[in-house]
Amino acid sequence: MNIILLGPPGAGKGTQAKRLEDRHGMVQLSTGDMLRAAVKAGTEVGKIADGIMKRGDLVPDDVVVSIISERIDQPDARRGFILDGFPRNVAQAEALDAMLAKKGLKLDHVIQMEVDDEALVERITGRFTCAKCGTGYHDTFKPTKAEGVCDVCGSTELVRRADDNEKTVRSRLDTYHKETAPLLPYYEKRGKLVKLDGMAPMDKVADKIEDVLAAEQRLGG
Ligand code: AMP
Repeated sequence: MNIILLGPPGAGKGTQAKRLEDRHGMVQLSTGDMLRAAVKAGTEVGKIADGIMKRGDLVPDDVVVSIISERIDQPDARRGFILDGFPRNVAQAEALDAMLAKKGLKLDHVIQMEVDDEALVERITGRFTCAKCGTGYHDTFKPTKAEGVCDVCGSTELVRRADDNEKTVRSRLDTYHKETAPLLPYYEKRGKLVKLDGMAPMDKVADKIEDVLAAEQRLGG
């Protein structure tokens, strides 16, 4: 099954995508993660993306479309994929439709996680991750048990994303409302959109996503 998780930054798309990977063996395709890796590695794409990401703007469509197209061609994506952070505007959604048609693949669902803006600012500005094992934390909602030490692997390398500061977060939210929100009617018209309450506890959101996937399987999808 191939799905899109749609929602503003901080809605919990990455968390839910990781759960789907664990439960169903699908692969998470996060353009944000791919671009951050490119920035870290200092590739050509990374050089283009770096400043744009720091401002909270969108990286050019042709760059992200070609990254996603190459990634979908990898054998593991045949097990089904979760698009997290892509598409981000209507032009990318159209490019995705054309790309999937060409590859003989289809999109099963677009799951929108609705969360209000002020909650997002608090969620995003407090989050950090263990650089070694990838476990996610939050200053208020999920602090580490011992300060500065990862609960899972004991590493002391806890990192924050460069764009998780309040100024950039507000700009990313602005970009979301202007560029990405038009995807909701785009997918609604195509009968693909399912809306979920992203303010609910993580486990509840995960259960709802499971319901959507199970309904699809009952219909033979
Ligand atoms: P994310 O990790 O999804 O919050 O993405 C972090 C940043 O990467 C965004 O603020 C954009 O600058 C860039 N980015 C990620 N995905 C896309 C995309 N599909 N189109 C354009 N820019 C993107």
